[in-house]
Amino acid sequence: MKILFCVSEAVPLAKTGGLADVGGALPAALAAVGCDVRVVLPRYRSISERGWRPVGTVDVSSGGEAVSGTILDGTMPETAVPTWLVDQPKYFDRSGLYGEAGRDYPDNLARFGFFCRAVLAWVGRQSWKPDLIHCNDWQTALIPPLIRAERAERTPTLLTIHNLAYQGLFPAQEFALTGLPASFFTMAGLEFWGQVNVLKGGLVFADTLTSVSETYAREIQTAEFGAGLDGVLRDRARDLWGILNGVDYRVWDPSHDPLIPAQYSAGDLTGKRICKEHLQREFGLYERPDIPIVGMVTRLVDQKGLDLVEAAVEDLFAFGVQLVVLGAGDARYEQVLGELPRRYPKRAGIRIGFDNALAHRIEAGADLFLMPSRYEPSGLNQLYSLRYGTVPVVRHTGGLADSIVDTTPDTLAAGTANGFVFVAYDAPAMLQALRRALEAFRTPHTWRRVQKTGMAADFSWTASARKYHALYDRTLAQSVRG
Ligand code: ADP
Repeated sequence: MKILFCVSEAVPLAKTGGLADVGGALPAALAAVGCDVRVVLPRYRSISERGWRPVGTVDVSSGGEAVSGTILDGTMPETAVPTWLVDQPKYFDRSGLYGEAGRDYPDNLARFGFFCRAVLAWVGRQSWKPDLIHCNDWQTALIPPLIRAERAERTPTLLTIHNLAYQGLFPAQEFALTGLPASFFTMAGLEFWGQVNVLKGGLVFADTLTSVSETYAREIQTAEFGAGLDGVLRDRARDLWGILNGVDYRVWDPSHDPLIPAQYSAGDLTGKRICKEHLQREFGLYERPDIPIVGMVTRLVDQKGLDLVEAAVEDLFAFGVQLVVLGAGDARYEQVLGELPRRYPKRAGIRIGFDNALAHRIEAGADLFLMPSRYEPSGLNQLYSLRYGTVPVVRHTGGLADSIVDTTPDTLAAGTANGFVFVAYDAPAMLQALRRALEAFRTPHTWRRVQKTGMAADFSWTASARKYHALYDRTLAQSVRG
């Protein structure tokens, strides 16, 4: 089965968040379960010239202007999955992917509208014809409506929702940049309270929808999590599925991670102690093995529960922990967190920025990993933490609910306890879970058990890839019948 995987970021070429981990790993996992898969993404500045060769051009008329792009052919580094890049320097040769300094680029509809149309124009001329096009998030969500509008021969589509909060909202005047006929700008199409909603176009017109955990796939059909699109999603409930993201254990495994100071495994945690010492030294914290380190690696946005951390900060330090945070995002959170090392010297280590190697060192060196998310479509860091023996403390939502089992006498006895979970979105509930986690930390026998259960868990991509494969089959069978 030939699958064209369209995505706006993929490790190791370009990354702002978890979508890139998926873009890098899922296509390789699909290939391993028998799909003939090709990836296509924009050629950003972060992608070096080496290994790519121009194989053709495409012309797209966008807002009355003719824009041409060059298609570069190559393979994804490390996994060797065949990949096309759409090169258009005016749109993509920039320092950011979607924006800079916390602000979206104003021409994002022109940029990703061009990308989607260039992809369709290009594949329309190739002998390699996809049986199905797999789109991801709003940046590629124009493809399903474009196919519906333009093509006599309809290639089936599947759209994965990685985060419903990012919808690609633009003023109505920009609708022409989508390349769609005006008849698509209605409530049954891309119109959303007078604006253009690109993601909605994908939700309405893709043959199959998925989201990145079963719980989040249910949650987004409710007003609380639906971000205004819950009605549209309820209408599509029969075609909406949840498939949890996996972990690329080639990259995220402490037994062979080259980015951490010492490797280790469940059988011998000596290396983890070295990683902890190193992390304490790196951040100028008290170098003591008995002080628990709470780690966080996150985009600093409301979704991630940073208001809870802010509200709980005094109590948190009163527990006697050290806090190490790596993150970038909203200026307000950058400032609040940035002040902590001054308020809590030798106990708070904060790094504002994006630093992949440091993310690995925190996963390895911390004892607990905190994810108090308001919502979390899948979440990857809790899965990484499990493998690194860094016990997750998470809120019960989305993919966190689907992967972390709270530690209770029963789950401990059953050997399923792998973390600590709280339900209410408030600071006391979070602190209560942390308190329980710290009690366990001081009971080595319990702690080792919870750590080992997490380290033994297998969230590799293969299981998820098989589920996608089955959904591709189902989608094709339906489109033949339809
Ligand atoms: P989201 O996709 O909402 O950002 P996920 O938990 O699914 O959340 O994935 C986040 C990914 O981005 C993880 O691989 C995490 O390590 C990485 N990440 C987030 N912020 C940073 C940062 N400041 N520096 C390095 N890596 C980061």
